[in-house]
Amino acid sequence: MADRLTMQDPRGQYPKPPFGEQPQPVPGLARDMSPRPDHGEESYRGSGKLAGRRALVTGGDSGIGRAAAIAFAREGADVAIGYLPAEEADASEVIALIGAEGRVAAALPGDVSVEAFARDLPRLAAEALGGLDVLVINAGHQQSRDALANVTSAEFDETMKVNLYALFWTTQAALPLMPPGSSIITTSSVQAYDPSASLIHYATTKAGMVAYTKALAQQTLKLGIRANVVAPGPFWTALQSSGGQPPEKVDTFGSGSAYGRPGQPVEIAPAYVLLASQEGSYMNGEVLAVTGGSGSVA
Ligand code: NAD
Ligand code: MG
Repeated sequence: MADRLTMQDPRGQYPKPPFGEQPQPVPGLARDMSPRPDHGEESYRGSGKLAGRRALVTGGDSGIGRAAAIAFAREGADVAIGYLPAEEADASEVIALIGAEGRVAAALPGDVSVEAFARDLPRLAAEALGGLDVLVINAGHQQSRDALANVTSAEFDETMKVNLYALFWTTQAALPLMPPGSSIITTSSVQAYDPSASLIHYATTKAGMVAYTKALAQQTLKLGIRANVVAPGPFWTALQSSGGQPPEKVDTFGSGSAYGRPGQPVEIAPAYVLLASQEGSYMNGEVLAVTGGSGSVA
């Protein structure tokens, strides 16, 4: 039977627009999207690449983080996920999927724009899993604004807090807990290199994440720890339908790609597995782009 790994033309492998406008309030739920994104629930097959690892994935309830969390569990890791309390319905599905692999699953709801919680997350994960070897900083805030005049200070602040401050707070708190061989992975974006006018504030944070991770990597390697960036192109997630794009652009999301479609979260999960596992041993301070060819990464 054909499955995700059967050789095929990738352009036709997953749904194409139109998708309808389907607006949701922030932060949005994957379970309310149509079509439902493929996070690997049925389709990701593991092969022991992360046996016995202990991973924390922020924003692991939905989208790219959920795909990474499912893949990590299928590869043999115990996994803690961070998410906002409003996302409990999505998160509980991920917790069940991790548990179904016979792995330990830890649910860590809370707001990473609050310093105390962002700093506490690594300790909470390490307590639940018995240690911490993989840290994925993936929670993100993205709201499109048609003009600079419509970016309020509060919105600018929220974007900085979730995308940049939490990166600083959580990695700083995590490092002392992580043994040599550990891996830190941040989720940036093609927006770091090819910013959209309407995402001026968001793109700024995603460029900052690249610089931060490249500098961090030089420090962590002295501890035997690698740090790398994943830079996604357009992926079909609740971030987009909850205001990351204007509704009419959600309808046509991914049509600008040479694939004529957005990526599905499961299509980026292997990048996280590679960077998390010892197979990525010579990768440090790198930016791994998974964009469908739609964005250049300098
Ligand atoms: P998503 O909405 O499914 O995931 C983002 C998650 O961030 C949410 O599920 C939520 O749990 C978390 N989050 C947001 N604000 C938070 C807060 N204050 N406290 C705690 N958690 C919070 O969408 P996604 O597209 O999978 O996003 C994951 C990452 O990928 C983000 O960093 C995003 O910037 C990045 N990204 C996405 C795309 C895309 O096209 N979808 C492209 C490039 C980069
Ligand atoms: Mg979510």
